[in-house]
Amino acid sequence: MKLVFEKSIEGRSMDYIPRLDVPPFDFDPSLLRKTPAQLPEISENDLSRHYTQLEKRAYGVNDGFYPLGSCTMKYNPKINEKTASLEGFTDIHPLQSHVDGCREVLEKAKEMLCEITGMDAMTLQPAAGAHGEFTGMMLIKKYHEMRGDTKRTKVIVPDSSHGTNPATGTMNHMKVVSIPSTPEGYVDLNALRAAVDDETAGFMLTNPNTLGLFDKNICEITKIIHDAGGICYYDGANMNPIMGIVRPGDMGFDCIHLNLHKTFSTPHGGGGPGAGAVGCKLFLRDYLPCDETVSFSHSIGRTKSFSGNFLVVVKALTYLLMLGKEGIPAAAKTAVLNANYLKKLLSEKYTMANEGICMHEFVMTLENEHKQHGFNALDIAKGLLDRGIHPPTMYFPLIVHEALMAEPTETESKETLETAAKIFLDVYDEAMANPAGMHNKPEKTVIGRPDEVTAARKPVLKYGD
Ligand SMILES: *Cc1c(COP(=O)(O)O)cnc(C)c1O
Repeated sequence: MKLVFEKSIEGRSMDYIPRLDVPPFDFDPSLLRKTPAQLPEISENDLSRHYTQLEKRAYGVNDGFYPLGSCTMKYNPKINEKTASLEGFTDIHPLQSHVDGCREVLEKAKEMLCEITGMDAMTLQPAAGAHGEFTGMMLIKKYHEMRGDTKRTKVIVPDSSHGTNPATGTMNHMKVVSIPSTPEGYVDLNALRAAVDDETAGFMLTNPNTLGLFDKNICEITKIIHDAGGICYYDGANMNPIMGIVRPGDMGFDCIHLNLHKTFSTPHGGGGPGAGAVGCKLFLRDYLPCDETVSFSHSIGRTKSFSGNFLVVVKALTYLLMLGKEGIPAAAKTAVLNANYLKKLLSEKYTMANEGICMHEFVMTLENEHKQHGFNALDIAKGLLDRGIHPPTMYFPLIVHEALMAEPTETESKETLETAAKIFLDVYDEAMANPAGMHNKPEKTVIGRPDEVTAARKPVLKYGD
Protein backbone atom coordinates (compact mmCIF):
# COMPACT_ATOMS: atom_id res chain seq x y z
CA MET A 1 0.00 0.00 0.00
CA LYS A 2 1.44 3.38 -0.83
CA LEU A 3 0.34 6.97 -0.83
CA VAL A 4 0.34 8.51 -4.29
CA PHE A 5 -0.17 12.11 -5.22
CA GLU A 6 -1.97 13.09 -8.37
CA LYS A 7 -1.97 16.46 -10.03
CA SER A 8 -4.97 18.40 -8.77
CA ILE A 9 -8.28 18.64 -10.51
CA GLU A 10 -8.95 22.05 -11.92
CA GLY A 11 -10.63 24.52 -9.62
CA ARG A 12 -9.35 23.02 -6.37
CA SER A 13 -7.29 25.24 -4.14
CA MET A 14 -4.67 22.58 -3.64
CA ASP A 15 -1.68 21.34 -5.48
CA TYR A 16 -1.98 17.60 -5.20
CA ILE A 17 -4.75 15.16 -4.34
CA PRO A 18 -3.47 12.19 -2.34
CA ARG A 19 -5.13 8.79 -2.67
CA LEU A 20 -4.35 5.35 -1.30
CA ASP A 21 -3.15 2.90 -3.89
CA VAL A 22 -4.37 -0.43 -2.42
CA PRO A 23 -3.34 -3.70 -4.11
CA PRO A 24 -5.98 -6.50 -4.25
CA PHE A 25 -5.95 -8.55 -1.04
CA ASP A 26 -4.35 -11.94 -1.36
CA PHE A 27 -4.92 -13.83 1.90
CA ASP A 28 -4.12 -17.47 2.56
CA PRO A 29 -7.62 -19.08 2.34
CA SER A 30 -7.00 -20.90 5.65
CA LEU A 31 -6.97 -17.50 7.35
CA LEU A 32 -10.36 -16.44 6.03
CA ARG A 33 -13.41 -16.60 8.34
CA LYS A 34 -15.73 -19.55 7.91
CA THR A 35 -18.76 -17.81 9.38
CA PRO A 36 -19.74 -14.16 9.03
CA ALA A 37 -18.84 -11.92 11.96
CA GLN A 38 -21.62 -11.54 14.55
CA LEU A 39 -21.64 -7.77 14.50
CA PRO A 40 -24.58 -6.06 16.19
CA GLU A 41 -27.02 -4.56 13.73
CA ILE A 42 -29.01 -1.46 14.37
CA SER A 43 -31.02 0.78 12.08
CA GLU A 44 -29.74 4.24 11.34
CA ASN A 45 -32.95 5.65 12.80
CA ASP A 46 -32.40 3.94 16.17
CA LEU A 47 -28.76 4.94 16.25
CA SER A 48 -29.59 8.52 15.42
CA ARG A 49 -32.20 8.61 18.22
CA HIS A 50 -29.75 7.12 20.69
CA TYR A 51 -27.16 9.81 20.03
CA THR A 52 -29.73 12.58 19.93
CA GLN A 53 -30.98 11.50 23.35
CA LEU A 54 -27.47 11.39 24.71
CA GLU A 55 -26.82 14.82 23.24
CA LYS A 56 -29.86 16.22 25.03
CA ARG A 57 -28.40 15.15 28.35
CA ALA A 58 -25.24 17.14 27.79
CA TYR A 59 -25.02 20.76 28.78
CA GLY A 60 -23.09 23.22 26.68
CA VAL A 61 -22.81 26.94 25.99
CA ASN A 62 -25.63 26.54 23.47
CA ASP A 63 -27.96 25.38 26.27
CA GLY A 64 -27.46 28.23 28.67
CA PHE A 65 -25.19 30.18 30.99
CA TYR A 66 -21.86 28.44 31.59
CA PRO A 67 -19.70 30.61 33.86
CA LEU A 68 -16.80 28.20 34.36
CA GLY A 69 -13.98 30.33 35.75
CA SER A 70 -10.50 29.86 34.30
CA CYS A 71 -12.00 27.81 31.48
CA THR A 72 -13.56 30.52 29.31
CA MET A 73 -16.61 28.70 28.01
CA LYS A 74 -17.58 31.38 25.57
CA TYR A 75 -19.90 31.21 22.62
CA ASN A 76 -18.13 29.97 19.50
CA PRO A 77 -19.46 31.85 16.48
CA LYS A 78 -20.99 29.58 13.86
CA ILE A 79 -19.01 31.27 11.11
CA ASN A 80 -15.92 29.56 12.57
CA GLU A 81 -17.48 26.21 11.70
CA LYS A 82 -18.30 27.43 8.24
CA THR A 83 -14.78 28.45 7.35
CA ALA A 84 -13.34 25.31 8.96
CA SER A 85 -15.55 23.16 6.76
CA LEU A 86 -14.49 24.72 3.46
CA GLU A 87 -13.37 21.86 1.29
CA GLY A 88 -10.05 23.50 0.45
CA PHE A 89 -9.23 23.01 4.15
CA THR A 90 -10.91 19.69 4.81
CA ASP A 91 -10.03 17.79 1.65
CA ILE A 92 -6.30 17.84 2.07
CA HIS A 93 -3.98 15.29 3.54
CA PRO A 94 -1.69 16.36 6.39
CA LEU A 95 1.29 15.58 4.16
CA GLN A 96 0.16 18.40 1.91
CA SER A 97 1.39 20.97 4.37
CA HIS A 98 3.00 22.87 1.52
CA VAL A 99 -0.42 23.89 0.13
CA ASP A 100 -0.17 27.65 -0.07
CA GLY A 101 -3.62 28.54 1.26
CA CYS A 102 -3.15 26.44 4.38
CA ARG A 103 0.34 27.77 5.03
CA GLU A 104 -1.07 31.25 4.70
CA VAL A 105 -3.68 30.50 7.37
CA LEU A 106 -0.99 29.24 9.73
CA GLU A 107 1.37 32.13 9.04
CA LYS A 108 -1.36 34.76 9.31
CA ALA A 109 -2.57 33.28 12.62
CA LYS A 110 0.98 33.26 13.99
CA GLU A 111 1.50 36.84 12.89
CA MET A 112 -1.69 38.08 14.55
CA LEU A 113 -1.06 36.12 17.75
CA CYS A 114 2.50 37.48 17.90
CA GLU A 115 1.10 40.98 17.50
CA ILE A 116 -1.43 40.43 20.31
CA THR A 117 1.09 38.90 22.72
CA GLY A 118 4.23 40.87 21.89
CA MET A 119 6.14 37.74 20.90
CA ASP A 120 8.53 37.36 17.94
CA ALA A 121 7.81 33.80 16.86
CA MET A 122 5.15 31.19 17.36
CA THR A 123 4.35 27.53 16.87
CA LEU A 124 0.84 26.18 16.44
CA GLN A 125 1.82 22.58 17.00
CA PRO A 126 0.73 21.86 20.60
CA ALA A 127 -2.78 20.47 21.00
CA ALA A 128 -3.74 21.97 24.36
CA GLY A 129 -2.77 24.51 26.97
CA ALA A 130 -0.91 21.98 29.09
CA HIS A 131 0.82 20.69 25.96
CA GLY A 132 1.83 24.26 25.14
CA GLU A 133 3.28 24.71 28.61
CA PHE A 134 5.21 21.50 28.18
CA THR A 135 6.58 22.76 24.86
CA GLY A 136 7.43 26.16 26.36
CA MET A 137 9.26 24.56 29.27
CA MET A 138 11.26 22.49 26.79
CA LEU A 139 12.36 25.71 25.08
CA ILE A 140 13.46 27.11 28.43
CA LYS A 141 15.39 23.95 29.28
CA LYS A 142 17.03 23.96 25.88
CA TYR A 143 18.06 27.59 26.29
CA HIS A 144 19.91 26.86 29.54
CA GLU A 145 21.39 23.67 28.13
CA MET A 146 22.73 25.45 25.05
CA ARG A 147 24.51 27.89 27.36
CA GLY A 148 25.93 25.03 29.39
CA ASP A 149 24.02 26.34 32.41
CA THR A 150 22.73 22.90 33.37
CA LYS A 151 22.29 23.54 37.08
CA ARG A 152 19.21 25.63 36.32
CA THR A 153 16.51 23.13 37.11
CA LYS A 154 14.23 25.14 39.39
CA VAL A 155 10.83 26.42 38.24
CA ILE A 156 9.02 28.87 40.49
CA VAL A 157 5.19 29.10 40.51
CA PRO A 158 2.87 31.06 42.79
CA ASP A 159 0.44 29.03 44.93
CA SER A 160 -2.47 30.49 42.95
CA SER A 161 -1.22 28.88 39.76
CA HIS A 162 -3.21 26.54 37.55
CA GLY A 163 -2.36 22.91 38.32
CA THR A 164 -0.86 22.43 34.88
CA ASN A 165 2.00 24.82 35.77
CA PRO A 166 3.64 22.72 38.50
CA ALA A 167 2.73 19.60 36.52
CA THR A 168 4.60 20.95 33.48
CA GLY A 169 7.71 21.60 35.56
CA THR A 170 7.57 18.12 37.04
CA MET A 171 6.97 16.46 33.65
CA ASN A 172 10.13 18.20 32.43
CA HIS A 173 12.10 16.84 35.40
CA MET A 174 12.41 20.29 36.96
CA LYS A 175 12.25 21.10 40.65
CA VAL A 176 9.00 22.99 41.25
CA VAL A 177 9.03 25.62 43.99
CA SER A 178 5.69 27.10 44.99
CA ILE A 179 5.71 30.53 46.59
CA PRO A 180 2.85 31.94 48.69
CA SER A 181 0.74 34.82 47.43
CA THR A 182 0.11 37.97 49.45
CA PRO A 183 -3.16 38.09 51.42
CA GLU A 184 -4.57 40.21 48.57
CA GLY A 185 -3.75 37.43 46.09
CA TYR A 186 -0.72 38.89 44.29
CA VAL A 187 2.83 37.59 43.84
CA ASP A 188 4.74 38.19 47.07
CA LEU A 189 7.83 40.07 45.90
CA ASN A 190 9.83 39.22 49.01
CA ALA A 191 8.98 35.53 48.70
CA LEU A 192 9.97 35.69 45.04
CA ARG A 193 13.30 37.41 45.80
CA ALA A 194 14.01 34.78 48.42
CA ALA A 195 13.20 31.94 46.01
CA VAL A 196 15.40 32.94 43.06
CA ASP A 197 19.01 31.88 42.77
CA ASP A 198 21.51 30.59 40.22
CA GLU A 199 19.48 27.37 39.90
CA THR A 200 16.37 29.20 38.72
CA ALA A 201 15.42 28.07 35.23
CA GLY A 202 12.18 29.99 35.03
CA PHE A 203 9.01 31.35 36.53
CA MET A 204 5.47 30.59 35.40
CA LEU A 205 2.66 33.08 35.89
CA THR A 206 -0.89 33.77 34.82
CA ASN A 207 -1.65 37.48 34.77
CA PRO A 208 -4.44 38.28 35.43
CA ASN A 209 -4.13 35.38 37.83
CA THR A 210 -6.66 32.74 38.79
CA LEU A 211 -8.26 35.17 41.24
CA GLY A 212 -9.01 37.46 38.31
CA LEU A 213 -6.44 40.01 39.50
CA PHE A 214 -3.91 41.83 37.35
CA ASP A 215 -0.58 42.07 39.15
CA LYS A 216 0.54 45.70 39.05
CA ASN A 217 4.07 44.66 40.02
CA ILE A 218 4.43 42.60 36.90
CA CYS A 219 7.45 44.46 35.47
CA GLU A 220 9.23 44.21 38.82
CA ILE A 221 8.39 40.48 38.97
CA THR A 222 9.84 39.69 35.55
CA LYS A 223 12.89 41.81 36.37
CA ILE A 224 13.59 39.81 39.53
CA ILE A 225 13.55 36.62 37.45
CA HIS A 226 15.67 38.06 34.64
CA ASP A 227 18.23 39.47 37.09
CA ALA A 228 18.60 35.96 38.48
CA GLY A 229 19.16 34.56 34.97
CA GLY A 230 15.74 32.89 34.70
CA ILE A 231 13.16 32.91 31.92
CA CYS A 232 9.64 34.26 32.38
CA TYR A 233 6.84 32.04 31.17
CA TYR A 234 3.34 33.43 30.71
CA ASP A 235 0.38 31.10 31.03
CA GLY A 236 -1.92 32.84 28.57
CA ALA A 237 -4.72 30.27 28.57
CA ASN A 238 -7.14 33.09 29.35
CA MET A 239 -6.05 36.19 27.48
CA ASN A 240 -9.65 37.40 27.36
CA PRO A 241 -9.35 40.42 29.62
CA ILE A 242 -6.19 41.85 28.10
CA MET A 243 -6.12 40.90 24.43
CA GLY A 244 -5.49 43.99 22.34
CA ILE A 245 -4.88 46.05 25.49
CA VAL A 246 -1.62 44.96 27.13
CA ARG A 247 0.91 42.41 25.92
CA PRO A 248 2.79 39.75 27.89
CA GLY A 249 5.86 40.55 25.76
CA ASP A 250 5.80 44.11 27.11
CA MET A 251 5.35 42.88 30.68
CA GLY A 252 8.72 41.12 30.37
CA PHE A 253 7.64 37.59 29.47
CA ASP A 254 9.88 35.57 27.16
CA CYS A 255 7.66 32.65 26.33
CA ILE A 256 3.91 32.06 26.44
CA HIS A 257 1.13 29.72 25.50
CA LEU A 258 -2.37 30.64 24.42
CA ASN A 259 -5.43 28.44 24.49
CA LEU A 260 -7.04 29.02 21.12
CA HIS A 261 -9.87 26.88 22.53
CA LYS A 262 -10.55 29.42 25.25
CA THR A 263 -9.58 32.96 24.32
CA PHE A 264 -9.85 32.60 20.58
CA SER A 265 -13.32 31.09 20.49
CA THR A 266 -12.77 27.55 19.31
CA PRO A 267 -14.76 24.82 21.07
CA HIS A 268 -13.37 22.89 24.00
CA GLY A 269 -14.47 20.48 26.64
CA GLY A 270 -14.89 16.76 26.40
CA GLY A 271 -11.27 16.43 25.41
CA GLY A 272 -12.01 17.66 21.91
CA PRO A 273 -9.26 19.01 19.69
CA GLY A 274 -7.71 22.18 21.06
CA ALA A 275 -4.69 24.27 20.19
CA GLY A 276 -2.10 25.57 22.60
CA ALA A 277 -0.08 28.02 20.51
CA VAL A 278 3.36 28.77 21.95
CA GLY A 279 5.05 32.09 21.36
CA CYS A 280 8.54 33.24 22.28
CA LYS A 281 10.98 36.08 21.99
CA LEU A 282 13.64 36.00 19.30
CA PHE A 283 16.33 34.49 21.53
CA LEU A 284 14.24 31.32 21.98
CA ARG A 285 13.05 31.05 18.38
CA ASP A 286 15.66 28.60 17.17
CA TYR A 287 14.46 25.98 19.67
CA LEU A 288 10.83 25.97 18.48
CA PRO A 289 9.32 22.71 17.19
CA CYS A 290 9.86 21.98 13.51
CA ASP A 291 7.37 20.55 11.03
CA GLU A 292 7.23 19.66 7.34
CA THR A 293 7.83 23.22 6.21
CA VAL A 294 9.45 25.01 9.15
CA SER A 295 12.80 24.10 10.59
CA PHE A 296 14.90 25.72 13.26
CA SER A 297 18.61 25.30 13.87
CA HIS A 298 18.35 23.86 17.40
CA SER A 299 14.75 22.70 17.40
CA ILE A 300 13.49 20.70 20.38
CA GLY A 301 11.93 18.45 17.71
CA ARG A 302 8.29 17.77 17.20
CA THR A 303 5.72 18.04 19.95
CA LYS A 304 2.87 16.88 17.70
CA SER A 305 2.50 15.49 14.22
CA PHE A 306 2.25 17.78 11.21
CA SER A 307 1.13 21.36 11.94
CA GLY A 308 -1.05 20.68 14.98
CA ASN A 309 -4.84 20.84 14.91
CA PHE A 310 -5.06 22.84 11.74
CA LEU A 311 -8.83 23.33 11.57
CA VAL A 312 -8.83 24.74 15.10
CA VAL A 313 -6.42 27.38 13.84
CA VAL A 314 -8.76 28.12 10.92
CA LYS A 315 -11.53 28.82 13.46
CA ALA A 316 -9.34 31.02 15.63
CA LEU A 317 -8.13 33.01 12.64
CA THR A 318 -11.74 33.50 11.53
CA TYR A 319 -12.53 34.93 14.95
CA LEU A 320 -9.50 37.22 14.87
CA LEU A 321 -10.27 38.52 11.39
CA MET A 322 -13.95 38.96 12.21
CA LEU A 323 -13.18 41.08 15.27
CA GLY A 324 -10.20 42.94 13.84
CA LYS A 325 -8.21 45.70 15.48
CA GLU A 326 -11.17 47.36 17.17
CA GLY A 327 -13.15 44.24 17.98
CA ILE A 328 -10.40 42.41 19.86
CA PRO A 329 -9.89 45.00 22.62
CA ALA A 330 -13.65 45.61 22.66
CA ALA A 331 -14.24 41.92 23.39
CA ALA A 332 -11.66 42.08 26.19
CA LYS A 333 -13.30 45.13 27.75
CA THR A 334 -16.73 43.53 27.54
CA ALA A 335 -15.40 40.39 29.25
CA VAL A 336 -14.11 42.56 32.11
CA LEU A 337 -17.31 44.61 32.26
CA ASN A 338 -19.49 41.48 32.34
CA ALA A 339 -17.42 39.93 35.12
CA ASN A 340 -17.60 43.09 37.21
CA TYR A 341 -21.33 43.44 36.64
CA LEU A 342 -21.98 39.87 37.73
CA LYS A 343 -19.61 40.28 40.67
CA LYS A 344 -21.51 43.36 41.79
CA LEU A 345 -24.89 41.64 41.47
CA LEU A 346 -23.73 38.57 43.41
CA SER A 347 -22.03 40.66 46.12
CA GLU A 348 -25.51 41.29 47.50
CA LYS A 349 -25.29 37.87 49.21
CA TYR A 350 -22.04 36.13 48.32
CA THR A 351 -18.71 36.95 49.97
CA MET A 352 -16.02 37.78 47.44
CA ALA A 353 -12.48 36.49 47.96
CA ASN A 354 -11.22 39.89 46.81
CA GLU A 355 -12.90 43.26 46.94
CA GLY A 356 -12.79 45.79 44.15
CA ILE A 357 -12.51 45.57 40.40
CA CYS A 358 -11.75 42.19 38.89
CA MET A 359 -10.62 41.28 35.41
CA HIS A 360 -12.36 38.47 33.48
CA GLU A 361 -13.32 36.37 36.48
CA PHE A 362 -13.86 36.55 40.22
CA VAL A 363 -13.86 34.16 43.15
CA MET A 364 -16.46 33.82 45.89
CA THR A 365 -15.91 32.04 49.19
CA LEU A 366 -18.52 30.04 51.07
CA GLU A 367 -16.19 29.49 54.03
CA ASN A 368 -18.41 31.30 56.55
CA GLU A 369 -21.58 29.64 55.32
CA HIS A 370 -19.85 26.29 55.59
CA LYS A 371 -18.80 26.94 59.20
CA GLN A 372 -21.90 28.71 60.42
CA HIS A 373 -24.77 27.28 58.40
CA GLY A 374 -23.62 23.88 57.20
CA PHE A 375 -23.76 24.24 53.45
CA ASN A 376 -20.79 24.64 51.15
CA ALA A 377 -19.61 25.59 47.67
CA LEU A 378 -20.48 22.15 46.32
CA ASP A 379 -24.05 22.46 47.61
CA ILE A 380 -24.51 25.80 45.87
CA ALA A 381 -23.05 24.38 42.64
CA LYS A 382 -25.42 21.41 42.77
CA GLY A 383 -28.34 23.70 43.57
CA LEU A 384 -27.58 25.73 40.44
CA LEU A 385 -27.84 22.57 38.33
CA ASP A 386 -31.47 22.17 39.39
CA ARG A 387 -32.13 25.70 38.14
CA GLY A 388 -30.72 24.93 34.71
CA ILE A 389 -27.40 26.75 34.77
CA HIS A 390 -23.95 25.28 34.75
CA PRO A 391 -22.11 25.88 38.03
CA PRO A 392 -18.95 27.95 38.20
CA THR A 393 -15.57 26.32 38.82
CA MET A 394 -15.46 24.84 42.33
CA TYR A 395 -12.65 24.62 44.86
CA PHE A 396 -10.18 26.52 42.71
CA PRO A 397 -7.92 28.39 43.18
CA LEU A 398 -6.71 26.31 46.09
CA ILE A 399 -5.78 29.35 48.17
CA VAL A 400 -9.45 30.30 48.65
CA HIS A 401 -11.50 28.05 50.93
CA GLU A 402 -14.91 26.89 49.66
CA ALA A 403 -14.25 28.69 46.40
CA LEU A 404 -16.64 29.28 43.54
CA MET A 405 -15.02 30.98 40.59
CA ALA A 406 -17.13 32.57 37.87
CA GLU A 407 -16.24 33.83 34.42
CA PRO A 408 -19.23 35.07 32.44
CA THR A 409 -17.19 35.99 29.30
CA GLU A 410 -17.95 38.75 26.83
CA THR A 411 -20.47 36.73 24.87
CA GLU A 412 -23.30 36.94 27.44
CA SER A 413 -25.92 39.68 27.36
CA LYS A 414 -26.91 41.96 30.24
CA GLU A 415 -30.26 40.13 30.45
CA THR A 416 -28.57 36.73 30.75
CA LEU A 417 -26.27 38.02 33.48
CA GLU A 418 -29.22 39.46 35.41
CA THR A 419 -31.24 36.24 35.09
CA ALA A 420 -28.23 34.19 36.17
CA ALA A 421 -27.55 36.50 39.12
CA LYS A 422 -31.14 36.10 40.29
CA ILE A 423 -30.75 32.31 40.18
CA PHE A 424 -27.49 32.47 42.16
CA LEU A 425 -29.16 34.67 44.79
CA ASP A 426 -32.26 32.44 44.95
CA VAL A 427 -30.12 29.34 45.48
CA TYR A 428 -28.28 31.16 48.25
CA ASP A 429 -31.59 31.99 49.98
CA GLU A 430 -32.75 28.43 49.58
CA ALA A 431 -29.53 27.18 51.18
CA MET A 432 -29.84 29.58 54.11
CA ALA A 433 -33.45 28.51 54.69
CA ASN A 434 -32.73 24.78 54.51
CA PRO A 435 -29.00 23.96 54.59
CA ALA A 436 -29.54 20.22 55.06
CA GLY A 437 -31.82 20.08 52.05
CA MET A 438 -28.93 21.24 49.86
CA HIS A 439 -26.99 18.02 50.41
CA ASN A 440 -29.44 16.12 48.17
CA LYS A 441 -29.14 18.46 45.24
CA PRO A 442 -29.48 18.15 42.32
CA GLU A 443 -32.88 16.49 42.21
CA LYS A 444 -34.00 17.34 38.70
CA THR A 445 -31.04 16.10 36.67
CA VAL A 446 -30.60 12.65 35.11
CA ILE A 447 -27.92 11.77 37.64
CA GLY A 448 -28.43 13.01 41.20
CA ARG A 449 -25.65 13.36 43.74
CA PRO A 450 -23.11 10.58 43.23
CA ASP A 451 -20.44 9.79 45.77
CA GLU A 452 -17.67 11.89 44.20
CA VAL A 453 -14.82 9.55 45.10
CA THR A 454 -16.56 6.40 43.91
CA ALA A 455 -17.71 8.17 40.76
CA ALA A 456 -14.11 9.12 39.96
CA ARG A 457 -12.48 5.85 40.99
CA LYS A 458 -15.08 3.36 39.81
CA PRO A 459 -16.94 5.02 36.99
CA VAL A 460 -19.86 3.12 35.47
CA LEU A 461 -19.01 3.38 31.82
CA LYS A 462 -21.96 1.37 30.61
CA TYR A 463 -25.52 2.56 30.30
CA GLY A 464 -27.96 0.29 32.13
CA ASP A 465 -27.14 -2.23 34.88
C1 LIG B 1 -7.21 25.84 30.97
C2 LIG B 1 -5.95 26.32 31.54
C3 LIG B 1 -4.75 25.63 31.31
C4 LIG B 1 -4.68 24.28 30.61
O1 LIG B 1 -5.22 24.25 29.32
P1 LIG B 1 -5.68 22.84 28.68
O2 LIG B 1 -5.99 23.14 27.25
O3 LIG B 1 -6.86 22.40 29.47
O4 LIG B 1 -4.55 21.89 28.81
C5 LIG B 1 -3.59 26.17 31.81
N1 LIG B 1 -3.60 27.30 32.53
C6 LIG B 1 -4.73 27.99 32.80
C7 LIG B 1 -4.67 29.26 33.59
C8 LIG B 1 -5.95 27.52 32.32
O5 LIG B 1 -7.07 28.19 32.58
